Amino acid sequence: MIRMSAYATLLSLCCDAALAQETAYVGATLIDGTGQAAMENATVLVENDRILAVGPEVEIPEGARVVDVQEKWIVPGLIDSHIHFMTSGRMYTRPAFFDLTDKVPYEEEIDWIKAHIPDTLRSFMCSGVTSVLSMGGPSLEYNARDIARRMDDAPTVFIAHGVITHAPRSVAERMIPPWDGELTVKPMLSVDEGIAYVEEAAALGADLIKTAVDDRGSFLLRLGLWWWDWRELEGSIIEEAAKRGFMVTTHAHALEYARGMMELGVASLQHIPADAPVDEAFIELARDRGVIVVPTLGLRKRTFIELFTKDIDLLPIEENCSVPGVVESWYEPLPPIDDQSTRYREEGEMAAANAKALYDAGVTLAAATDSGMIGLAAGSSMHVELRALDQAGIPAAYLIQAATLNSAMVAGKEDQYGSVEAGKFADFLILSADPIEDIANLQAIERVVKHGNEFTPDELLPRDDA
Ligand SMILES: [Zn+2]
Repeated sequence: MIRMSAYATLLSLCCDAALAQETAYVGATLIDGTGQAAMENATVLVENDRILAVGPEVEIPEGARVVDVQEKWIVPGLIDSHIHFMTSGRMYTRPAFFDLTDKVPYEEEIDWIKAHIPDTLRSFMCSGVTSVLSMGGPSLEYNARDIARRMDDAPTVFIAHGVITHAPRSVAERMIPPWDGELTVKPMLSVDEGIAYVEEAAALGADLIKTAVDDRGSFLLRLGLWWWDWRELEGSIIEEAAKRGFMVTTHAHALEYARGMMELGVASLQHIPADAPVDEAFIELARDRGVIVVPTLGLRKRTFIELFTKDIDLLPIEENCSVPGVVESWYEPLPPIDDQSTRYREEGEMAAANAKALYDAGVTLAAATDSGMIGLAAGSSMHVELRALDQAGIPAAYLIQAATLNSAMVAGKEDQYGSVEAGKFADFLILSADPIEDIANLQAIERVVKHGNEFTPDELLPRDDA
């Protein structure tokens, strides 16, 4: 008995000392992600992968490594709560939009994507993105999570199991062709299929469920298939998901679908209505139910306007942090296709006005990108999104929260991620300029700290050595 307890004491002495690695970041202005006012001359004390203490007067333990971060800013690591690994961001990645399969056949694109997962993961980190939420695709999304778990220099990967669509297989296949033989957009036309889908998510260890409701399905109505009842189908998924402890997030570009999904109990909306202005009832519903809206304004601007006009408003961080070949592909001549940029510009204005109206009314917004979509590079597209939200009139102080804590809430991980607070994972950025003065200063990254490991952006450049 005595021997055991002495052994236990010895063990704890030995291993506390051996394992505890404390680092104190001293003197920065801290913007903690919760929406609280910036704290000057703060200390952030990290032990191993966790934040131990935060404040103006934190006692620094003897032996701790002290990092002087005076005249720097600390913000939480960015969280992109809408990404896909199944697409590369290159011009060749969604042939249904831009068919350049003559130049890069889809099979070749898939091989490229698979070969560049580690590089893609580093691209996120290089841009300050320390967590991502996959919005679904083939089993590759789960493979990427496995790869990320084995890397120190990769973001934490969460997964929304998706994408479901209310359309038959033939239509789903036309949206995104099968990926290595797997359907990426999964047709769901019956309640049983919906329930099976939630069961599959549970078996795979997904973090939430992603569905899609939009005009992809309404073609059924046009065909006269009047029995199609998306509310019944979506309601059954939400109900089944709740039984298993899953939140549901939904892709909805159209106001009435978005409204209907909120009535059914969805936790967050991906994209934002772009077909009509949000009305008072919509705003109240979102606010009362605590629905988080994820506008993805950069998607429309970049993919559907800038790539059509080739007037690409590129940020330096996009060139610096992207896997070689991604940005270059955006300058590829377009295939014969109607220029739809005028329509998208009008929708974009509506979406931006809706984002601002929701912000003004106190609805929670999260910043995320749909990265992987053509024109949206892993990681750096967060800064494209933040620029778009800034141009929509949403203040920088709020955008920092939208890109961190609110994005963690979309994934349901706000107890561990999304803010610089004691007890959470040590995921934060050290910046050389004030992001509240200008949200673009979130690109002035000197260090990225992920689970206590510290990197310079240079150490996180894609290496193309996969
Ligand atoms: Zn998406």
